Amino acid sequence: MSFWMELRCDRRGAGRTSNRCLSDDNYGPMEMYGNTKSAVSAGVAELLESAAWAGWQKRKDGWVCPACICHEEQSNGSL
Ligand SMILES: [Zn+2]
Repeated sequence: MSFWMELRCDRRGAGRTSNRCLSDDNYGPMEMYGNTKSAVSAGVAELLESAAWAGWQKRKDGWVCPACICHEEQSNGSL
């Protein structure tokens, strides 16, 4: 047995066509980890590190993918 883990965006785009949420396309940090508590714990740390490296942001209400961050920035002003 093993555990499949994937970080999902907490601002899912509900099918936006521009700046499509990465989680709408199942395209985010994900990996299979072993079946021990230590493997799962290490896996969570690894996933979150990968997410931060890839531009995901941890906020009060959860993790937000780079596409949703871009969408927010464009909605809030300059375009
Ligand atoms: Zn998103």
